[in-house]
Amino acid sequence: MSSPNKITKIEVFRVPPRWLFVRVETESGIVGWGEGTLEGHTEAIEGAFKDLAERFIGWDAEQIQDIWQHAYRSRFYRGGPVLMSALSGLDIALWDIKAKRFGVPVWQLLGGKVRDRVRVYVWVGGDKPSDVYDGAAERHAQGFTAVKMNATDAVSWIDTPALLEDTVARVREVKSLGLDVGIDFHGRLHKGMAKQLAKALEPLAPLFIEEPLLPTQTEEIGDLAKMVSTPIALGERLYSRHDFRPYLERRAIDIAQPDVSHCGGISELHRLASYTETYDVALAPHCPLGPIALAACMQVAASAPNFVIQEMSLQMHYNEGADLLTYLVNPAVFAVKNGYVEVLDETAGTGLGIEINEALVREAAAKHSTEKAWRNAVWKGEDGSLREW
Ligand SMILES: [Mg+2]
Repeated sequence: MSSPNKITKIEVFRVPPRWLFVRVETESGIVGWGEGTLEGHTEAIEGAFKDLAERFIGWDAEQIQDIWQHAYRSRFYRGGPVLMSALSGLDIALWDIKAKRFGVPVWQLLGGKVRDRVRVYVWVGGDKPSDVYDGAAERHAQGFTAVKMNATDAVSWIDTPALLEDTVARVREVKSLGLDVGIDFHGRLHKGMAKQLAKALEPLAPLFIEEPLLPTQTEEIGDLAKMVSTPIALGERLYSRHDFRPYLERRAIDIAQPDVSHCGGISELHRLASYTETYDVALAPHCPLGPIALAACMQVAASAPNFVIQEMSLQMHYNEGADLLTYLVNPAVFAVKNGYVEVLDETAGTGLGIEINEALVREAAAKHSTEKAWRNAVWKGEDGSLREW
């Protein structure tokens, strides 16, 4: 196989706060960047990349579909968070390479753009949702018109209803600033509590409620969707079109939230946009991750008709040691104005539209390699039993 874009090198970099960047080099010298972050399991992705490098060095980087199919289908086991996050990181880097070769932004290769700017939202509060009002006021001042917050702290299978009153009060405070509010149940609640909270929040007209139950509960989420008018969002823990299928057929969701670093990269996010559109479901890519994942989402956001809003991790509570813009040479591409970020166009360069500070990535990865990787908290109830985080 002779191609000017033969893959010659695949490297991964585990960097703070909890991200995994992928760098793919080709014979012609074009370098592509991807992100295969799997929060809390980054070492597993590093392991998966040993196999991907072994398989795809020497392949033509422009055969994105063929590489995707082989990465997904040529081995007996497929799907799931680890293999799909690794495939996602590789896929994003390949789109970056292809678009750079043609000297265009990736969205040009997806059929062109259908919008000029992309609505975005950020987080307020942390895992323990207190003092959200001050955080929301700060976000409002930064130019955001929409935010997301956690609904609750740890919740038992059946817990005190007083806990739900606190959530309603906090959402009301944030809404008083004129912000749209998405509320992430985070799969923390079980059915008996989730249906009460969904009903209690309904009069406040949230933008959406996210993961109202764990993604194992397709049928129960479908029931919830019939019970409240609030849009139901979900998808960060689904890893391909196949995983979305039962939710769509059950009419269980109104907003699909695939994560470009877990669902199969730009290729699968683009396919999911079309697939969900046929069910009249909106697309809001999940992205509490780094700048490469965000840039990849922005490419699909520019071109997908059913796209509605993009998550971004600017100053997110997990971003310790580095923030969304830290590794960028051109951070201004993600400037927020009146709740929108401009589509990453030709002026932002080609490919993904971002320029990575490679020296800083290498330095951070070398330092971080001896440090403990990020892990999520493990929560226990007052009785000592495990609760969902
Ligand atoms: Mg979530």
